[in-house]
Amino acid sequence: MEQSQNPQVNEFMTKVIAKNPGEVEFHQAVFEVAESLIPYIEEHPKYKKGKILERMVEPERVLMFRIPWLDDKGEIQINRGFRIQMNSAIGPYKGGLRLHPTVYLGILKFLAFEQVFKNSLTTLPMGGSKGGSDFDPKGKSDSEVMHFCQSLMTELYRHIGPNLDIPAGDIGVGGREIGFLFGQYKRIKNEFTGVLTGKGLQWGGSLIRPEATGYGNVYFAKEMLATKGFDFKGKTVSISGSGNVAQFATQKATHLGAKVITLSDSSGFIYDPKGIDAKKLAFVFELKNIKRGRIKEYATKYNVEYYEGHRPWGIKCDIALPCATQNELNGEEAKILIDNGCICVSEGANMPCTPEAINLFHEKKILFAPGKASNAGGVSVSGLEMTQNSMRLPWASEEVDKKLHEIMVSIHNTCVKYGKGDDGYVNYVKGANIGGFVKVADAMLAQGTV
Ligand code: NDP
Repeated sequence: MEQSQNPQVNEFMTKVIAKNPGEVEFHQAVFEVAESLIPYIEEHPKYKKGKILERMVEPERVLMFRIPWLDDKGEIQINRGFRIQMNSAIGPYKGGLRLHPTVYLGILKFLAFEQVFKNSLTTLPMGGSKGGSDFDPKGKSDSEVMHFCQSLMTELYRHIGPNLDIPAGDIGVGGREIGFLFGQYKRIKNEFTGVLTGKGLQWGGSLIRPEATGYGNVYFAKEMLATKGFDFKGKTVSISGSGNVAQFATQKATHLGAKVITLSDSSGFIYDPKGIDAKKLAFVFELKNIKRGRIKEYATKYNVEYYEGHRPWGIKCDIALPCATQNELNGEEAKILIDNGCICVSEGANMPCTPEAINLFHEKKILFAPGKASNAGGVSVSGLEMTQNSMRLPWASEEVDKKLHEIMVSIHNTCVKYGKGDDGYVNYVKGANIGGFVKVADAMLAQGTV
């Protein structure tokens, strides 16, 4: 674990690590927040006296359960399911479900912890949670995914509800999985409610929800660039991942006149120097969302380079949008990006940049946005989906997109308010941490020792 210059941070982290052994991603997320917040809390004794940060690192509730299901061969498979209900001070728990073989308690606690700050930043009334399973959807048939989702929901349904905890998608959970989960919830509970977000348009979903995280990230980066008098037009953009967030970040960046030159998956990345235009992106949508193939097939189809086992950060670009997974951009890669003239890094994924990478971006005064601010568009439109479900009225896509845009601008303003230093450089990490903290902390103080 990294050491802080601030002994109070190290003292705090020693306790967190002792209480949560082995949960390295959770330690990393808490450390980053503690670095910004402990000095702020020292200046605001009410939060110190109320032990708000100490309370916030302890989930309100952790659920862990068995998910047995039958595969296509009739064999029994057993996975482990989780739901971390982290904080409900400002609204019902809200956060995605992740299906990936790497899922364990430490990853979901880091994601749930980040989600509390992110949801607070959106200005909507949502607490924070996260869940998922170590199930690997890769190579599974639709029928196997359905049986798994039904078994997961057969336990999860009793712990969630439209006024209690509202799950959504994340890695490995898209429209198909939300459909299976929603169907099983409805069947068990015998009611049609907005208990999940990311639903299909015909059954309670919101327009722009699939686009929201990727679009929101580009809207946020656009605001950052504007502080320096830049925009996306004519810029070269490198994106990692090729799932939901990466696809729509590519689309929006291209709409704004940029050229997106890379996409990746866990096997490698493609480099298309001519840019991934609308036609090529349509191929990626089909490849990833329907055929569920590998990004390598793009290289074969369009005769471009494919780098097996590598990440895209060695390719020269103006803007980098890491949109795959945690810790996918390290210190060495950050140095290469900076040396190649990159001016802006905006996280589409959660915690994709390592602490060493973030330190370098700050040192070199590169525009850098942490995911809890820049990828908050997804949960924001989930919040708008909840509103539409409560009203039983759908909004037009222009209206949702406009609201998404306004929310991203507002999050950017909050980060600037709390993160701008004396030299004018905005530390968006500090801004997002303090901006997200204040609302939750004040609500916790108002609600007593809970
Ligand atoms: P998807 O499952 O749609 O796509 C994930 C992409 O990341 C795939 O290309 C996948 O490749 C790649 N990936 C996953 N794990 C790894 C790994 N260990 N190493 C390298 N590549 C990997 O997920 P999303 O696009 O929804 O999510 C991407 C990120 O964005 C996550 O960090 C998520 O938490 C975050 N996020 C998502 C939101 C949403 O609304 N969906 C909201 C806010 C944040 P492969 O197919 O090979 O696994």
